[in-house]
Amino acid sequence: MRIIMLGAPGAGKGTQAKKIAEKYNIPHISTGDIFRANIKNGTELGVKAKSYMDQGLLVPDELVVDLVADRIQQDDAKAGYVLDGFPRTIPQAESLDAALAKMGQKIDYAVDVEVPDENIVNRMSGRRACVKCGATYHLQYAKPKAEGVCDVCGEQLILRDDDKPETVQKRLGVYHQQTQPLIDYYENQNVLKEVDGTKDMEEVFADIVSILG
Ligand code: ADP
Ligand code: ADP
Ligand code: ZN
Repeated sequence: MRIIMLGAPGAGKGTQAKKIAEKYNIPHISTGDIFRANIKNGTELGVKAKSYMDQGLLVPDELVVDLVADRIQQDDAKAGYVLDGFPRTIPQAESLDAALAKMGQKIDYAVDVEVPDENIVNRMSGRRACVKCGATYHLQYAKPKAEGVCDVCGEQLILRDDDKPETVQKRLGVYHQQTQPLIDYYENQNVLKEVDGTKDMEEVFADIVSILG
């Protein structure tokens, strides 16, 4: 099963993608996590991506398209995958379609997690992330067992620089301008499925599972 997660920053794409990956035994491919790992390791890609990410802007298409095309050809992605944070622009979606066509594949579902802008700033200011393993928590809705410490790996949790309110507003603007057009794009391909992302995490997941089967 090949799935794309759509939705505003903070809508819950990552949270749901991890649960989908676990239930259906497919890899969770998050371009944000890939960039953050590159930044942490000081790679050339990381250095390039960081300046855009810190400003709340998208990383240029040419830095992300080949990376994803390579990733979906790896062995663990043969039976499918859940893409989280990619595509984010129409040109990225078109490149993905071209790469899939070469492999004789197609996307089965584009799941749009809908959350209004008013809820997003609260979601983001409460998000806490583990830079070591990529786990995410929320101060109110998904608390770690011990305050400030990752349940999975024991690392300290952080508030991402780009989750501060000023940057979140900017990212929401970028989302509406560059990413939201993908909703129509996948609607036209007859693979779009919309879920209400304001429900609690387990309910959103149950709605997704009823769609994916
Ligand atoms: P969120 O959790 O808010 O959806 P991500 O972790 O997916 O954020 O992405 C963080 C940042 O990484 C984005 O604001 C953007 O700068 C960059 N990024 C991630 N994926 C892409 C992509 N497909 N195209 C361009 N930039 C991306
Ligand atoms: P995205 O990947 O779309 O940026 P995340 O999955 O990281 O979003 O979720 C953003 C924040 O909101 C995280 O702190 C997460 O724990 C929390 N969150 C996710 N889904 C829900 C939900 N249904 N209700 C409340 N909080 C949620
Ligand atoms: Zn961790």
